[in-house]
Amino acid sequence: MKALISIDYTNDFVAPDGALTTGKAGQAIDDRLAEVTQAFIDTGEFVVFAIDRHDPQDFYHPENRLFPPHNIKGTWGRELYGKLGEVYQKNQNAANVYWLDKRHYSAFCGTDLDLRLRERDIKEIHLTGVCTDICVLHTAVDAYNLGYRIVIHRHGVASFDPVGHDWALNHFEKVLGATIY
Ligand code: ZN
Repeated sequence: MKALISIDYTNDFVAPDGALTTGKAGQAIDDRLAEVTQAFIDTGEFVVFAIDRHDPQDFYHPENRLFPPHNIKGTWGRELYGKLGEVYQKNQNAANVYWLDKRHYSAFCGTDLDLRLRERDIKEIHLTGVCTDICVLHTAVDAYNLGYRIVIHRHGVASFDPVGHDWALNHFEKVLGATIY
């Protein structure tokens, strides 16, 4: 069994006026993301939208020192961007679609993702979204340590930093044993 983990494709990370936008690189993967995600949903595979969620009152979060406020709960910035957003809207009540709030880079950190995957006997996870070298990377590292096979969709990940993007793709393949698809 396999699952698709769709990471942080929100207005703040993708829209031109998002708080921490990946800009054109992020916007360019929208069609591909919508297509791949819809295909996973249609074939009954488990699809997880793992989405950063911050609280402006969370004074203890280490990201406060690193980044401006982003993906604040209840704001436009935290809504999914573009066509992928439409795919979610259309399919959000499907039994195989799961919205996962996360507070750290990795979708596994402090969440029930590992339990949700194990109870479905899922051994292979496909990662898409942004940023390749931050949240996708940290999710992949945790997945590797938990024993999952990893597939990265090359045209389904993006970063604001082209050097970081390329570095991460190489790391997924050479160090985490991921298939780059
Ligand atoms: Zn964050």
